[in-house]
Amino acid sequence: MSLHKISCPARTTFRDAEIAELEALENGVLRVERSLWCYLQEGHAGLHHTLTQGLHGTEHEPARTLWTRWPDGDEHGPLRETLALPPCAEKFLAGTVEEECCGLYEGHAGRHGFEFGPPITEADITPDWVLRLFEE
Ligand SMILES: [Zn+2]
Ligand SMILES: [Zn+2]
Repeated sequence: MSLHKISCPARTTFRDAEIAELEALENGVLRVERSLWCYLQEGHAGLHHTLTQGLHGTEHEPARTLWTRWPDGDEHGPLRETLALPPCAEKFLAGTVEEECCGLYEGHAGRHGFEFGPPITEADITPDWVLRLFEE
């Protein structure tokens, strides 16, 4: 997934054996990156978290997302762990065609995933005259 720093400057790095193990998981969908940034808002409380692997749903289990989490300063273990966490249910513009999932896990610290990042182009900025339509 993301090789780019989103917000929190913490980063974890996987050894070859760990990458091989994560990629060998049954129903795994992602190529596991060697180095991953924490997905949370800079200065967040608690453990750092990064999305490591996605697992397809099967007959017996729904699709799952594997996150790797670690305490500050322990990015290579032994306290680092990778586990499936349920998704955050928050949605931006819920119920509209522009609905966007948070993408983080349930109960995460800091901002939701859709709240990160500045607008990329002018097209991403709602013009003032549109905003005024909603002020009535
Ligand atoms: Zn972090
Ligand atoms: Zn969220």
